[in-house]
Amino acid sequence: MRLDKFICKSTELSRADAIKWLSEGNVSVNAEVVTDAATQVHENNHITLNGKLLTARASRYIMMHKPLNTICSNADQVYPSLLHLVDVDKAFDLHIAGRLDADTTGLVLITDDGRWSYNIITPKQQCKKVYRVGLRNAIAADIASRFEQGVQLQGEKALTLPATLEIISDKEVLLTITEGKHHQVKRMFAAVGNRVVSLHREKIGDVSLNIAPGTWRYLSTDEIQCFQ
Ligand code: URA
Repeated sequence: MRLDKFICKSTELSRADAIKWLSEGNVSVNAEVVTDAATQVHENNHITLNGKLLTARASRYIMMHKPLNTICSNADQVYPSLLHLVDVDKAFDLHIAGRLDADTTGLVLITDDGRWSYNIITPKQQCKKVYRVGLRNAIAADIASRFEQGVQLQGEKALTLPATLEIISDKEVLLTITEGKHHQVKRMFAAVGNRVVSLHREKIGDVSLNIAPGTWRYLSTDEIQCFQ
């Protein structure tokens, strides 16, 4: 990871303060003064700040039940960032593994471990995400097989990867997908002439949402291991 990030992870310093301490020559990596904040370091490097050895704090892994009208980016826009609801130290150092739209609710996984979140996001890992979808029009009989074969989303070259549709009622379905293109679920239903009116993520891999809207908890060791 970047040296400034390592310093933030192992102290109470903000990113700006870490960069200041670095530029003033107060940080050494393996006994050499380093001033470049972007220098890549590993946890087994000997990193000191003013002669004091730094040890990185363990990574954090959190489940959040995203309520309506919150956003998954770090910067507040029309709606507030979801990270305001995670009352931990330096919450804005965390990132969201697989963002949801402002009008989507449900399971969000939050971490500061980039490798772990990559395993959730990359289509290479085929990590399943299950969405409960409310539809404007009754679901047509052939949609499950069309999603299984892949559909053409507007503006995309390749078809969507095979997805599984479970019909709950004529206007409610469970959709399982393994990729996360922008607005993917809404665009998949638009591609087959329907419209999503409500969207809720219930599950990512083997991790199921089991907390109330607007709350969060740390993941268990077993849940963390699902994506390692
Ligand atoms: N697909 C969407 O269209 N929106 C989401 O928030 C998540 C998946």
